[in-house]
Amino acid sequence: MTTSFLLITFAICKLIIAVGLNVGPSQLLRIGAIDFDGHLTVHSSDLASVSSDFGMLKSPEEPLAVLHPSSAEDVARLVRTAYGSAMAFPVSARGHGHSINGQAAVGRNGVVVEMNHRETRTPESLVRAEEMYVDVWGGELWVDVLKKTLEHGLAPKSWTDYLYLSVGGTLSNAGISGQAFHHGPQISNVLELDVVTGKGEVMRCSEEENTKLFHGVLGGLGQFGIITRARISLEPAPQRVRWIRVLYSSFKVFTEDQEYLISLHGQLKFDYVEGFVIVDEGLVNNWRSSFFSRHNPVKISSVSSNGSVLYCLEITKNYHDSDSETIDQEIEILMKKLNFIPTSVFTTDLQYVDFLDRVHKAELKLRSKNLWEVPHPWLNLFVPKSRISDFDKGVFKGILGNKTSGPILIYPMNKDKWDERSSAVMPDEEVFYLVALLRSALKDGEETQKLEYLKDQNRRIMEFCQQAKIDVKQYLPHHATPEEWVAHFGDKWDQFRSLKAEFDPRHILATGQRIFQNPS
Ligand code: FAD
Repeated sequence: MTTSFLLITFAICKLIIAVGLNVGPSQLLRIGAIDFDGHLTVHSSDLASVSSDFGMLKSPEEPLAVLHPSSAEDVARLVRTAYGSAMAFPVSARGHGHSINGQAAVGRNGVVVEMNHRETRTPESLVRAEEMYVDVWGGELWVDVLKKTLEHGLAPKSWTDYLYLSVGGTLSNAGISGQAFHHGPQISNVLELDVVTGKGEVMRCSEEENTKLFHGVLGGLGQFGIITRARISLEPAPQRVRWIRVLYSSFKVFTEDQEYLISLHGQLKFDYVEGFVIVDEGLVNNWRSSFFSRHNPVKISSVSSNGSVLYCLEITKNYHDSDSETIDQEIEILMKKLNFIPTSVFTTDLQYVDFLDRVHKAELKLRSKNLWEVPHPWLNLFVPKSRISDFDKGVFKGILGNKTSGPILIYPMNKDKWDERSSAVMPDEEVFYLVALLRSALKDGEETQKLEYLKDQNRRIMEFCQQAKIDVKQYLPHHATPEEWVAHFGDKWDQFRSLKAEFDPRHILATGQRIFQNPS
């Protein structure tokens, strides 16, 4: 008997009476009776804290209970109960709740597993410096993985722009940033996983063992298992970063330069290639660009041509203090090949960790102005290289007008750095672009900043792509109908569906993605 059993049972009975749940009371009593190492809670503050996400686009919905696990076995105990119940109930892992469209939500009949809630007994990250990997708990935030590995002078190779995301959460999508052109997405840098399947089995998987599950889970939107441990490949951590931004007024020249840079893979290359679009007030609204400091807008206006669209290439070169003599020379050689506006070079130099954690600084600023916890109708698309200029004409120079309500990222990646066997979906071309419209909606803002306006703009962008036959794929996908999901997965759909039947036959896991019907 668990210490919390009576309390939980009492709370559950109260819940049954209060909300008239259509899950049988016996199932609920069974959850309360599980002997967890961590703890199950029905405390109202715990329920409230998992009922919404970063997107804030859906009405908050409290789950039945929240599990704060302290081991993979805890997660397995819960999933086994859900799977074995006459009426199965949903179980969703929640990383850091940074989804946009309720993907980590579970509905009021389900249980959320708060992977990031640190129970004292949750396994510590373990760095194996000789083998160049780290074993991390699935709910660990990347910022903590970085801190841990830096103690050994090592770091993961592939990142997201923002580090307060969980390992399990980004590996369920792909995990991309400016290093992906060379190292591939984060899912291409995983050596092994421990996964709790939808039947409640704890399975170890890798390139050699349970291969189908391994590739399926990577980019698998949480559909086949809950990642409780990931083994991440490491490299020696650079000490410093030279961070450069240059501007372009020609989209063609901008993308030619980006594509040239991602074709370099030898010693002489940049380590990170991204970019963003500046439409009119885009810089003011670009919470990622504190880099263009107070005195810089003067410089920017001198290159801005009558409010037309500008493009900013963002590149970095990593180095060690001992290389500081040669770094300038290497950068000069690389920059000579580029065709940016000559007067538009913005350079800064900082510690590696400060570069990686750059978006958090922007977060703190936005939080201080109450501009972080607002709705985020983000749209992330993978656009094939062959159609990126049509996308520019139709969207950046067309649908967006001169208002963006947030940064618009654009950068190319090489498909050969993505493993086709993973569940991640990308366009059918060797090079494709991420276009990320990272907008914040303001209730009291101008018409163009309001949620409904931005949602409608997203709809118009998708409609434009469809009419122009630009075969985009959504990244962090959100689709409304089964037909849309089938189209999203394309050739991968049959494999995806068959993995679901094998590893989560009762459709218990990650129901917030709304790909499959509710638990059967
Ligand atoms: P959650 O939102 O909690 O979960 C996402 C999905 O994964 C849910 O379906 C959930 O059930 C499932 N899941 C969570 N944990 C696990 C687990 N352990 N095992 C199995 N399934 C699990 N993405 C990028 O690729 N690059 C970026 O640069 C980037 N920047 C971002 C910046 C900000 C400010 C924000 C808000 C998001 C950004 N993202 C980026 C998107 C991010 O990768 C996704 O939101 C992702 O879902 C990670 O968030 P999370 O850990 O909070 O996961």
